[in-house]
Amino acid sequence: MLAAATAACSSNKDEKPAASGATSAVTTSQVADTGKFVVRYDRAMASDLAKDGKKIAQDNKVIDDLAEALGNVYKLPKDVTVVGKECGEFNAYWDPQKQSIVLCYEMFGIAEKFAKAQAEDDLTLFNVYFDGITRMITLHESAHMAINLYSLPTTGREEDAADQLGALILLTAPGVGGLGGLGAASDFWFAVSDDPASLDARSYADQHSLSQVRAYNLLCWLYGAVPDKLGMLVQQPGQPEEKGLLPSQRAVGCPDEYNRMRASWETLLKPYIKIELGLPTTATATTSARATPSATTTPTR
Ligand SMILES: [Zn+2]
Repeated sequence: MLAAATAACSSNKDEKPAASGATSAVTTSQVADTGKFVVRYDRAMASDLAKDGKKIAQDNKVIDDLAEALGNVYKLPKDVTVVGKECGEFNAYWDPQKQSIVLCYEMFGIAEKFAKAQAEDDLTLFNVYFDGITRMITLHESAHMAINLYSLPTTGREEDAADQLGALILLTAPGVGGLGGLGAASDFWFAVSDDPASLDARSYADQHSLSQVRAYNLLCWLYGAVPDKLGMLVQQPGQPEEKGLLPSQRAVGCPDEYNRMRASWETLLKPYIKIELGLPTTATATTSARATPSATTTPTR
């Protein structure tokens, strides 16, 4: 669902954060790491999409894997639930009242359909798409969690900040998995972008950036992480404009943008995480970072 896809994590918009305030001077040794991510699969009863999403998520222990990945990143002072549930729409969100990350079964259902359409019978490519999309969305929500749980300061829109941190953690994955996953997530965001003719005041005023903008941001950070290896993502002189190809005017600043973003999040999160954010310097990029040259398939509603 196009509108719902762009409004991901908006269902808790009226809820107030459980904690707020300026970040205190916390050192690594002061941060308790006594909590864990606890997985729960709720029922799916109403829609076939939710039932399908639940089946693929539960049969393949997808949420278990996501929770394990989160546990390898964050230090938790208390348990946080990662719950799969039927939401009635494509969505995922951080619930500050229940201190839980909610992953809607519809999100898994749509990610599976999109991945199948892109990969056809290529299982490896399917996994790049399915894992990339579901991880990017989960990591985005984990960024909301981190901002709330650790009372991190944010300037600008939190939704953009959450995309930044989500992308950085995704890129932290070893090998080319993180690069491919981020490319797949960018493809997905392009595919669910609204027709510009349908945009209205609500679209422009939304707390999320337009899906097209989010897709190009991911592409910029992907290219910015390894600019010497991913030149194929950039529009070359004389090359026609193409969806999913980074205009050179933006691309030229992406390495600096990526490095500043990485340094900023490292400063903010250092006491609270167990990893070094961003692409390891030893990682190598291949063309698999861009799973397909175009993303024209619209996921089934
Ligand atoms: Zn969000």
